Amino acid sequence: MLDTAPDSTTSPTTSARTLQSPVALPAQTGGATIQLLDVTKSYPGSDAPAVDHVTMEIAAGEIVVLVGPSGCGKTTTMKMINRLIEPTSGTILIGGTDVLRLDADEHRRNVGYVIQQIGLFPHMRIAENIGLVPRMLGWSKKKTAARVEELLEVVGLPPGEYARRYPRELSGGQQQRVGVARALAADPPVMLMDEPFGATDPITRDRLQNEFLRLQREMGKTIVFVTHDFDEALKMGDRIAVLGPQSVIAQYDTPEAILAAPANDYVASFIGSGGQLKRLGLMRLRDAELRPAPARRNLPVITIEATLHDALDVMLENGVDKILVARDESGTGEILGSIRMDDLMSSIADDSSDEPAVTIDPSAGS
Ligand code: ADP
Ligand code: MG
Repeated sequence: MLDTAPDSTTSPTTSARTLQSPVALPAQTGGATIQLLDVTKSYPGSDAPAVDHVTMEIAAGEIVVLVGPSGCGKTTTMKMINRLIEPTSGTILIGGTDVLRLDADEHRRNVGYVIQQIGLFPHMRIAENIGLVPRMLGWSKKKTAARVEELLEVVGLPPGEYARRYPRELSGGQQQRVGVARALAADPPVMLMDEPFGATDPITRDRLQNEFLRLQREMGKTIVFVTHDFDEALKMGDRIAVLGPQSVIAQYDTPEAILAAPANDYVASFIGSGGQLKRLGLMRLRDAELRPAPARRNLPVITIEATLHDALDVMLENGVDKILVARDESGTGEILGSIRMDDLMSSIADDSSDEPAVTIDPSAGS
């Protein structure tokens, strides 16, 4: 059984000092390719399969978002990857290994899993919750404690303050961070995240998304991320699989490509209105070609870290067709150049497909 003795948790005195040191990131094992080959799941007693002959490849180190309406089979598809649900037929390979041939319990521990309901054990302290899988995998108390401390730092919960608390002593957003830390504990190459931030308020959700994307830039895990929210899919996904009923893939491509050319009306309906404007939200000023800064400097200023969508917002708010771009966050430092409304329009009209050029209607959309 699990050892939950208090000495397996972090001592407050050592962690107070760790706080000052730079935040260590989790070990970087990178990710592994996931392949679903003709995977089907039929639940006993239902006429139609919940997941019908799905084939897809998820490249190592990418976040792939499965997006689709409630009941379309997202959770079933995801849970077959860690064998919380056994496929009726088909093959699932991770890093080329057929996972259906592995010991199911052992396989499950090697895949990180984050769910909306968080699922922390209420009677265990935060450190014990995070250390659960490493202890099951036979890590020593010392190695587990060090890993727990490192992960608490990574997710922004100073161990000195949080390691010995119980889940009920944390806010929803903090509990969700613990959920992420727990999934990362044994440094799995693959993480499954099922509507992980769905239960939090919009501001907390935005923050958790940003923190997670920052973390992923360092970790390069292979992540399957489920959501019913297309805007979340755009933000989180390197690639998005838009799923129809029975997990049938309507389109599987980058966010940019899906917004530029939805495969059919079903995908288009998912994007909703303002698809062209949403494309602007995927492009950053730092990647755009800026014009020289004009002599006239009494124009609104935006930071180069902002998106083209943010730039359009500033233009519309100020009733101007040109703004300045500055290096720093507040937009008050060195001016690097300027950008015009025309530039924004041509950036979304300009793509390699032979679609007719699109113009944006600033009154439309999101
Ligand atoms: P999603 O996550 O996209 O909302 P699910 O994968 O949870 O969808 O469900 C897909 C379909 O399978 C739904 O019709 C659901 O009712 C059915 N289903 C899910 N779990 C079970 C189960 N344990 N037994 C029978 N049917 C199920
Ligand atoms: Mg679901």
